[in-house]
Amino acid sequence: MDTPNRHALITGITGQDGSFLAELLLEQGYRVTGMVRPAASGQMLSERPLGCSEHLRRRLELVERDLLDPAGLRDAIEQTRPSEIYHLAAPSFVPASWERPHETMRAIVGSAAAILEAVRELGPDARVFVAASGSIFGEAPESPQREDTPCRPTTPYAIAKLAAHQLVGALRAHDGLHVSSGILFNHESERRPERFVTRRITRGVAAIALGLREDLTLGDLGAVRDWSFAGDFMRGAWLMLQQKHPDDYVLASGVPHTVAEFAQAAFACLDLDAERYLRVDSALVRPPERTANVGDPSKARERLGWEPLLSLPELVERMVRTDLRSLEAEIGPNKP
Ligand code: NDP
Repeated sequence: MDTPNRHALITGITGQDGSFLAELLLEQGYRVTGMVRPAASGQMLSERPLGCSEHLRRRLELVERDLLDPAGLRDAIEQTRPSEIYHLAAPSFVPASWERPHETMRAIVGSAAAILEAVRELGPDARVFVAASGSIFGEAPESPQREDTPCRPTTPYAIAKLAAHQLVGALRAHDGLHVSSGILFNHESERRPERFVTRRITRGVAAIALGLREDLTLGDLGAVRDWSFAGDFMRGAWLMLQQKHPDDYVLASGVPHTVAEFAQAAFACLDLDAERYLRVDSALVRPPERTANVGDPSKARERLGWEPLLSLPELVERMVRTDLRSLEAEIGPNKP
């Protein structure tokens, strides 16, 4: 496709989603600028680690800005003048938001406000995607959750994501901006950090298969989640910005699974018996959630023509096989 004037600015380029989105946009001929967090040590921009987007380094332009610096965000937009902005950066690990609620609000709500303000003043024709989260529904009165389900968020992270999501809706209506909010349920890949349970499982299972570990200890096996592949969600984000009119869309698989089911699928990939290796640490088990966090993606399917391409078993297989390969490479010939 010939897309000479398409220039995207991606915040959160070093993260999981930023990397999948950058791949997708580069494939389509976009010029892509990625925003990275300023280095603490005065390291040159060209030497900054690019996390999940390291393999794209030579194809990306970079700007260095912190989400906590609204003037810097405005300046990045003024400098780059993108036709599309994908605002993905956020402190994304939910438990950490209890430690730093003020910073969480500034990073998530403050940055969204700063970016939208800058777009309104500097380039109101730019199209903007803002990453919201399925966690905004919290203890919602219904499951699965749709775009119009009432939200009852229960963590500082989810409260911040809801405020940013509502700001998107308000500024879209008031200022006529082409800004869409993606209400993203859990999405995973081999690029997820190990602090997230899915990656802990797939890496743990691969380590067991290689004889590097004896078991896998998890907390709440009964917790229900709606998992999808991150690459599928970034295609959904891109589709939102290709529509004539901006809107809010739930992206989800619509299918609930428990942590136990995810773990069993991972063990099954390598013909291992989950019963033999799976342990539960009761100290990690949390009270059951009142509402299953499951999304209804009907609107995205109908209006965007969006479909997830990877099923959960395919996603788990992809993650387990990648972890197996990377652990094999790490241990080399010293395999136990
Ligand atoms: P990641 O944690 O992989 O990436 C987050 C990105 O944000 C990183 O590039 C990180 O940079 C950047 N970032 C964080 N804080 C700052 C800061 N102060 N200044 C500049 N950059 C910062 O998240 P994902 O890719 O998984 O998620 C993308 C978006 O989708 C996030 O907004 C997340 O909240 C949302 N989301 C994700 C879900 C999921 O299941 N993955 C579910 C629902 C919503 P650095 O590498 O320097 O830390």
